[in-house]
Amino acid sequence: MQKHNFSAGPCVLPKEVIQKASEALLDFDNGLSLIEISHRSKSFVDVMEQARSLALELLGLEGKGYKALFLQGGASMQFLMVAQNLLEKKAAYLNTGTWADKAIKEAKIYADIIEVASSKDANYNYIPKGFDIPEDLDYFHCTSNNTIFGTQMKSFPKSPIPLVCDMSSDIFSRTLDFSQFDLIYAGAQKNMGPAGTTLIIVKEDILGKVSRKIPSMLDYKVHIDKSSMFNTPPVFAVYTSMLTMQWLKDLGGIKAIEQENDKKARLMYSEIDLNPLFKGFAAKEDRSDMNATFTLVNEDLKETFDTMWKEAGINGLSGHRSVGGYRASMYNALSLDSVKVLVEVMNELESKA
Ligand SMILES: *Cc1c(COP(=O)(O)O)cnc(C)c1O
Repeated sequence: MQKHNFSAGPCVLPKEVIQKASEALLDFDNGLSLIEISHRSKSFVDVMEQARSLALELLGLEGKGYKALFLQGGASMQFLMVAQNLLEKKAAYLNTGTWADKAIKEAKIYADIIEVASSKDANYNYIPKGFDIPEDLDYFHCTSNNTIFGTQMKSFPKSPIPLVCDMSSDIFSRTLDFSQFDLIYAGAQKNMGPAGTTLIIVKEDILGKVSRKIPSMLDYKVHIDKSSMFNTPPVFAVYTSMLTMQWLKDLGGIKAIEQENDKKARLMYSEIDLNPLFKGFAAKEDRSDMNATFTLVNEDLKETFDTMWKEAGINGLSGHRSVGGYRASMYNALSLDSVKVLVEVMNELESKA
């Protein structure tokens, strides 16, 4: 039976990417597996270089002073690595959800943090707007897409200080002027590849300004100097991410996938709005194109609905415990047809009820 994978992460990847990645596990280089050759071999060094240049190319950041790294430790490691490398006295953070909150907690270990705004009081169902970013701070940190709550920043404030963004769950999903950011990071497992690596895009000229000693493994400069090969990289995760970026480039890049993502989100949200059995969680103007969060108006229908979507081959629709209800994650590799299947099930529930 065909599966429709709405999982929030790890999540759906293109079928052909999984096919190619599994072939490389068996035979990548003259009968040797990708995971048993040296990471210093020419064939793997080429993979790393291609992954790094594809990331910059897709974002339109080639030749603009940025470097791409594929490191380990997940996006969660970036919560502290950003502070370790950039935070001297004080930084500004926008608190839009669980992940932003965790980033703040880690940064506080290093120095002072100002929360410029927070939507915590409303269980993070909207994106705060109209806040000021002080000029005399080290950087401003925000989260472009709040995976758990289903909100997404549709625009970014003009920042007088370096702009740092956690794009874990919407990287490569929509066109933006990426040169407005000084540092972008994204765990691979939401829209790029398997868990195990994190993409970091950093503008080199923001580095080297803090006075503290930085351990080598946490130092962006060390990783840049060693071409993202300071230590053994997670070869399978990097290779699979490279294949996904290649897949996206062949499709026509971010512009092309954005149109598909737009169609999926519009179909999903129109059903949530029109079907009287459901209600959306996030404020309408801040709704995420990646993660649609919604609940049943009448919880008595839960068992029936859950049985119906599972029977339709849908996977991973249950909401995060801090929101409840449902979350339809519609990352790049999820097809419009999968969204149609979910919408049909929601319609069917309406006709039954
Ligand atoms: C999943 C997620 C994280 C955490 O990623 P890990 O790789 O598990 O550390 C951080 N930020 C956002 C926005 C996420 O969606």
